[in-house]
Amino acid sequence: MLRCGGDRVVIVGGGIAGALLAKTLESHADVVLIDPKEYFEIPWANLRAKMEPAAVERTVIPHTEYLHHAKVVTASAVSVDDSVVLTSGGGGAVAYDFLVIATGRMCNRPQRRDDRLRMFEHDKARIASSNSILIVGGGPIGVELAAEIVMANPEKHVTIVHGGPRLLMVMGEKASSKALEWLKSKHVVVLLDQTVDVTAAAGENVNVFTTSAGETVNADCHFVCTGRPVASGWLKDSFLGEHVDGEGRLMVDEHLRVGRLRNVFAVGDITDVPEAKQGYLAQRHAMVVSRNLKLLVKDGGGKTAEQKLHRYKASKAAITVTLGRRDALSELPFMTVIGHIPGVVKPRDLFISRTRRMMGLKLSTRHDQSMLQREQH
Ligand SMILES: Cc1cc2nc3c(=O)[nH]c(=O)nc-3n(C[C@H](O)[C@H](O)[C@H](O)COP(=O)(O)OP(=O)(O)OC[C@H]3O[C@@H](n4cnc5c(N)ncnc54)[C@H](O)[C@@H]3O)c2cc1C
Repeated sequence: MLRCGGDRVVIVGGGIAGALLAKTLESHADVVLIDPKEYFEIPWANLRAKMEPAAVERTVIPHTEYLHHAKVVTASAVSVDDSVVLTSGGGGAVAYDFLVIATGRMCNRPQRRDDRLRMFEHDKARIASSNSILIVGGGPIGVELAAEIVMANPEKHVTIVHGGPRLLMVMGEKASSKALEWLKSKHVVVLLDQTVDVTAAAGENVNVFTTSAGETVNADCHFVCTGRPVASGWLKDSFLGEHVDGEGRLMVDEHLRVGRLRNVFAVGDITDVPEAKQGYLAQRHAMVVSRNLKLLVKDGGGKTAEQKLHRYKASKAAITVTLGRRDALSELPFMTVIGHIPGVVKPRDLFISRTRRMMGLKLSTRHDQSMLQREQH
């Protein structure tokens, strides 16, 4: 068992929120990060990675590259009690003084970085060798992937099959119709209110799919971009199970504490904070919890720190969907815009330089530096 001595912070999940939290806390506490992968990945770069794997290698970063003091346990958490996290494989039991749950959404990624990069190369080869591509799911991920493909390869036939009545249901109706219009202008076929069971038709060589409405889609390859459930299954039978809501999210208070437990926090997509589930908001959660944990650790968990704890306020944040390298669709609180203007903000560098800088990583290439300068202007 990995024992603790009063200031041990165990962070479960090394994604956008957990990795940043570990980075900002590692000089202030005894931090242990538990993650089944050996690396941190910037998720919003992984659609472009399917087109240009080499350009986004810097978005898959070994935990040991940005963490210098924290201990990394490469394993999945399988259960937890009021003082110990149990992990699978060789990770064993990890004792904690403070616990942060940051397991986001369920996602099967290889343990090793090399294997993850090979997945991008494999996807690139599949796309390159296909004339027709089926995308299942018309949420932000499906729409962004379709756009990446058709902007780089206008000759490819892309079809989106989407179960809902409109694309981008996490955004308003205006955004949905603008996205539909944009995709149609790029000759993407969009089939709404239909589903397709790709597992029933599984196999590398299957290239005819039938939708629930009986339509036939010819596709040399397909990508499933439907929503992924929250990764809270491992908590349900634990002492935190009573704080998991009907959608699998952890119920948190204004300090992002779970069930008002003094030493248990949650950050990122796993929380029930009533706002869009976005990476930059997950980063804000991490910063609030980081400040709170610094206070609690410094004060030995005493009452003074309790009174000073920072609050998190749910955000009415903007959502931006990238449409290839130049265009984007942004839903702001007061308007919805599409085209080159919102495209100036996100699509070129996908905030990769900024995210690397937040993780204390060098902007090692000239490309990184010029992109950062452009973002700042
Ligand atoms: C393709 C794509 C594009 C996106 N585009 C944007 C965008 O443009 N802007 C934006 O703001 N947001 C975007 N998002 C959303 C954003 O990525 C998420 O909101 C963000 O990743 C949530 O961060 P998180 O740390 O809560 O979870 P995640 O980043 O999902 O990380 C969860 C971590 O927990 C680990 N984990 C899971 N289960 C366990 C377990 N049992 N034990 C230990 N570890 C575990 C996982 O391995 C992972 O490392 C996008 C998401 C995707 C997938």
